[in-house]
Amino acid sequence: MKYSREVQSYRPVEKRMNDWDEIYNFNHVRKGLKVQTARCMDCGVPFCQSSYGCPLGNVIPKWNDLVYQNKWKDALDQLLQTNNFPEFTGRVCPAPCESACVLGMNSSPVTIKSIECAIIDHAFEQGWMKPEPPSFRSGKKVAVVGSGPAGLACAHQLNKAGHLVTVYERDDAIGGLLQYGIPTMKLSRGVVERRVKLMEKEGIIFRTGVNVGKDVPAKELYNNFDSVVLCLGATRPRELSIPGRALGGIYQAVAFLETWQKKQSMPNNKLGNPAFTAKDKDVIILGGGDTGCDCIGTSLRQGARSITTFEILPPPPTSRARDNPWPQWGRVFKVDYGHEEVKAKFGKDPRLYNMMSKEFVDDGHGRVAGIKAVQVEWTKDPAGRWLMSEVAGSEKLFKCDMVLLAMGFLGPERYIIDQLKLDEDPRSNVATPNGEYSTNVARVFAAGDCRRGQSLVVWAIAEGRQAARQVDQMLMGSSSLSGPGGIIQLNGCNGGSCDPWPKSDTFVRTSVALVGGKGGFGSMLRAIGAQIEKTTNREACRDLSGRRLRDINEEKRLKDWVSKQADREKEREDRKQKKLEKLRQEYHHEFHDPEYFRVRSEVLDNVNEALEQGIQASSSTADEPPPKKHRTSDDRPAVKKPAFWIGVSDDEVDSSEDESKPSSNSSCKSEEGETKVPEISCQAADEPQAESSETLNETVSPSTPEEANIPSASATEATVDTPSMNEPTPEELVPISIPAVSEQIVATTPTAPEPTVFLPINLLDFDSSKALELLGLNHLKHELQRLGLKCGGSLSERASRLFTIKGLSPDEIDPSLLAKPPKKR
Ligand SMILES: Cc1cc2nc3c(=O)[nH]c(=O)nc-3n(C[C@H](O)[C@H](O)[C@H](O)COP(=O)(O)OP(=O)(O)OC[C@H]3O[C@@H](n4cnc5c(N)ncnc54)[C@H](O)[C@@H]3O)c2cc1C
Ligand code: SF4
Repeated sequence: MKYSREVQSYRPVEKRMNDWDEIYNFNHVRKGLKVQTARCMDCGVPFCQSSYGCPLGNVIPKWNDLVYQNKWKDALDQLLQTNNFPEFTGRVCPAPCESACVLGMNSSPVTIKSIECAIIDHAFEQGWMKPEPPSFRSGKKVAVVGSGPAGLACAHQLNKAGHLVTVYERDDAIGGLLQYGIPTMKLSRGVVERRVKLMEKEGIIFRTGVNVGKDVPAKELYNNFDSVVLCLGATRPRELSIPGRALGGIYQAVAFLETWQKKQSMPNNKLGNPAFTAKDKDVIILGGGDTGCDCIGTSLRQGARSITTFEILPPPPTSRARDNPWPQWGRVFKVDYGHEEVKAKFGKDPRLYNMMSKEFVDDGHGRVAGIKAVQVEWTKDPAGRWLMSEVAGSEKLFKCDMVLLAMGFLGPERYIIDQLKLDEDPRSNVATPNGEYSTNVARVFAAGDCRRGQSLVVWAIAEGRQAARQVDQMLMGSSSLSGPGGIIQLNGCNGGSCDPWPKSDTFVRTSVALVGGKGGFGSMLRAIGAQIEKTTNREACRDLSGRRLRDINEEKRLKDWVSKQADREKEREDRKQKKLEKLRQEYHHEFHDPEYFRVRSEVLDNVNEALEQGIQASSSTADEPPPKKHRTSDDRPAVKKPAFWIGVSDDEVDSSEDESKPSSNSSCKSEEGETKVPEISCQAADEPQAESSETLNETVSPSTPEEANIPSASATEATVDTPSMNEPTPEELVPISIPAVSEQIVATTPTAPEPTVFLPINLLDFDSSKALELLGLNHLKHELQRLGLKCGGSLSERASRLFTIKGLSPDEIDPSLLAKPPKKR
């Protein structure tokens, strides 16, 4: 199972034990609900609905799936078809459905109870729970005696069938043990009252403070109503007749709980009768069941000094015993809310097992001061029956101020039974035929604890519903009220006091309340024989491992998609290629503009011509000193092959490219001043502007095209050549520069302004490359060029390159430092 069961359904123990609010951690549970519902496997045979599971036959997988799909309203409708009061069972039911959950065979069962509670609470929050009075009235009147869950469920169903129902309750509030029995921490009074108000609005009449058989003769009811349903509960508590029972401070658990709950429900509630509170007392509770646990929780919150419970039976095993297999109700060791709280407060579990009380000890003032108890042993006789024996010498006195007897109930009180002359079964409950609710007296029915003996809320609701159906059948001849939905009956027994576990000659009868079922995998399995379509939503079904088909299919789709990734990419590439191919075939741009070609050739001719003239002019002045701005050393050609488009030599282009890159290997074949044109051209061709301060310094504004009488691209060349024709004075040799750029250079160069005429450097005067750096970038470049060395790089690179040849003769210089020889024309 992919998801684990949510175990934190109660609020943190440290918090909850200090208040009387409900113990449930509603918000936390609500958050993880989707995951929890996803754990439901929608089993082929949903045992949670069987006679071992929910007595109401709640169609659990159905509403699990609806909640999973966020269809809360549908889930509510589904739930209310089988359960009149999910808000009660969702809080207090011990959830036999979970014990029978198929997942529970080898894992933790689905959190059915929490999901149920969330559905109904959500419905109340959303305002979906509205009174639904019947659309017609049958004219029949039914009296229901007792307003516990059995009486309420019976009245609810009969009212739906159109009968006028009056509920008689001897207590001052409606609800039976839901009101005065089960503590508010488990089921708040508000939850009970909310439901009672709804029922009142639906037309049910409640009469509180009427003790039928005492205040009103039972016969009177019998005569005034078409039918009487007894839902009296099993309110006769079991006694413990040992010496000292008459001492003060020993109470029946229900009396203790009821008194406290009545005080709580009073306005300005105060602890009145101190005898009924456990505050500052050492409390011993006899009986380790649910009632005992509620006494623990109540005593703890009242402020008991210590709490101990005695249980005569041995502790249950931690996992199912061999004689208690799944899907039976698991008789295993459980830690309920009260036990957990005592452990948190006092450091140990309050339960003592195999303990038998022998005597209550008097404190000398007629009150209990302790219990003498012995340890007992349980063995089996040859016939397999359990035998109890005392452990010799194990008697011990347990000090206490208060004793609560929580040892179960013996059945309903007798007076009303006597008045109506009803038959009793061997356990002194009202006798009815097996599986029926009618008594030996015509028109008198019985349901709940008074019929089946002390039991559970869920069973009381189930009995109330079925009793109502039989009353309706009796009154009307037939009934449209639902039967025991989804319950599988074994040997004609639907649970309760009989043992439904199959023996030989077993027959199984199933009653499915809702035709069609959930439509999931289980439903499909069930429908296989009939070959009928049960679902239109196969994706929501699960496989045998519990996974939904939509998840499985999605996973398959994803795997498939991933495995075809390479194919998809190839296909995309092919498509692209095809498209390109197509485009290539379709689109042939051809440029035919004779005028353009004519002008272009004219420009080229002009440029070449201007260049030739320049070269001739410079060679005609060969006897004059070499122009200052000649870029190479004396033995190198002064003018290079012009690039055809602007008249710049290849080398110059190379050089400026190199220079723009701050590499120490770059060669520089152009001289300051003369390099202006190539550098402009280079940058214009393929370099971004103003890469370095040096480049910027060497950048000049071209002269106007008119000056050179050539198109604008060549005009710069004319400007370059002009100074080379005439011997310039040093002042005239001031480089032309853009003022803003010069400022930048000043800012980026930490040295003093550089001279415009560079004198040869005597390296012997310098003892470090650092000292050389002080001469400035251009001076170093000039010197490097003068010596035929590579002239590019940063200031320090140039300085160190120059410094490395200090004291070397020309043939000792590392050839790699030399500038490239100019290309031949
Ligand atoms: C302390 C305690 C805690 C429990 N906790 C749980 C739990 O957590 N979960 C669970 O499932 N079950 C629990 N139970 C059991 C559960 O409460 C009962 O099984 C269930 O309430 C039985 O319902 P009922 O309608 O048959 O009887 P009851 O709830 O007992 O209601 C019977 C009603 O009939 C009234 N009545 C009786 N005689 C007359 C008369 N002559 N005239 C007028 N009115 C009359 C009574 O006053 C009472 O209100 C608990 C029981 C106790 C005692
Ligand atoms: S009523 Fe009880 S047994 Fe039925 S589904 Fe709810 S928790 Fe389970």
